[in-house]
Amino acid sequence: MIVMKFGGTSVGSPEAIRRTVGIIGGRLSERPLVVVSAMSKVTDLLYSIADNPGDSSLVDALRKRHYDVASALLSGEDLERCIEDMDVLIDALPGPSKAAAISTGELLSSTLIARYMNANGIRTSWMDVRDTMVLEGDPMKAAPITDELSRRAPKAFDAALSRADAVLTQGFIGRLADGSAAVLGRGGSDYSASLLGSALGASRIEIWTDVDGVKTADPRKVEGTRSLDAITFEQASEMAHFGAKVLHPLTMQPAVRTNIPILVLNSMNPAGKGTTITAADFMEDGLKSLSSKDKIVVMTVSGGSSASRLLSLVFPVLSSKGISPDMMASSEGKVFLTLEDSPAVDSAAEEIGRFADVSLDRGRAQVTIIGKNISDIRSKVIKAYPAAAPEKVYMVSYGETYVNLSFAVPRELLDSVLRGIHKELF
Ligand code: ADP
Ligand code: ASP
Ligand code: MG
Repeated sequence: MIVMKFGGTSVGSPEAIRRTVGIIGGRLSERPLVVVSAMSKVTDLLYSIADNPGDSSLVDALRKRHYDVASALLSGEDLERCIEDMDVLIDALPGPSKAAAISTGELLSSTLIARYMNANGIRTSWMDVRDTMVLEGDPMKAAPITDELSRRAPKAFDAALSRADAVLTQGFIGRLADGSAAVLGRGGSDYSASLLGSALGASRIEIWTDVDGVKTADPRKVEGTRSLDAITFEQASEMAHFGAKVLHPLTMQPAVRTNIPILVLNSMNPAGKGTTITAADFMEDGLKSLSSKDKIVVMTVSGGSSASRLLSLVFPVLSSKGISPDMMASSEGKVFLTLEDSPAVDSAAEEIGRFADVSLDRGRAQVTIIGKNISDIRSKVIKAYPAAAPEKVYMVSYGETYVNLSFAVPRELLDSVLRGIHKELF
């Protein structure tokens, strides 16, 4: 079997859904499990609905978006049934919890697409992934219980496929052991796909998105990016960890464990080669790609103790909040850390403030150059620094072998820095 995951833009309009279903139709002999995200922007809208429960105009907008797409794709009884099913989901909003509200996007898109596939001659079973994706922890950013998934997924998939040509299910969503709703965190459908692929022993996991595979940098920010034909799990994880939004950072983990290749493909250009991500043990030295994070916080901690003592006090607090710093620097009695911004950072700062002076600077962004053994070409990297406005570069962090060279810049310079470095180095 194979897993095919389609992201928000690949299912975000009638044309996109037609194209996507055409791609699925060409893979039926491989017993596909299709994992879909919510239609593009729908999860954002659901966050607003959950945060503004009295605002019916938001729910109206959600309903209209789905009715419009359904009406363009279906007719007659198929359309009526589809609207009935979608109404049940929409009428339940905002529902018992924020995670329940947010889960509605994937339930809606999968309901609609399953109907469309069946109406177009692809016998499709709609599978409720919440019965297999058992999660734990924070319901808005939960972690999978993989043993439970491995126990449940094969039975559920085989039963669903026994009466169909394809199985269609949802990314992102699941349930806690007590049955309440939980989700994997933003962009989590990629992670769902690789968790399911690993649990089912897929021969490959296809991530279908809106660009020609993984590129040297984010094509939305930088011109002239190139697609990477083949990269390793390690490089893909590094890129994602340092902010390349093309894959959820945890996507590679299950695939590494089970050694299943991940392909990143473009649903707007299905004939393209895309990027193959595997465990290849050989990787050429050199520069690979550029990642960035625009929402980071620089935390400065000081006061009374030595840097080592401060670190020993600060790390337990960060780790208890699930925060892991990207860059670190210290001087006598002071430590500097870059952290991805989230409400957890404020609560960590408050706790640290009980034993040290702490300040947060939210005006920075972080750039990371990823490569292998780039110490050989250190001079080339350094030459690119003028592009980064050298007097405005903070906290350079440089590993030794498999290198991530990271630094912070003022947020307003991020895009020009990325363009400058990409032009110089890639
Ligand atoms: P999906 O809805 O399919 O999950 P996403 O928007 O989550 O799609 O991810 C695809 C986007 O990731 C692309 O449109 C692109 O702008 C962005 N991106 C960031 N860094 C990279 C990169 N290095 N290579 C390719 N795309 C990237
Ligand atoms: N729909 C979810 C989100 O927007 C999950 C995903 O698209 O991967 O975050
Ligand atoms: Mg995504």
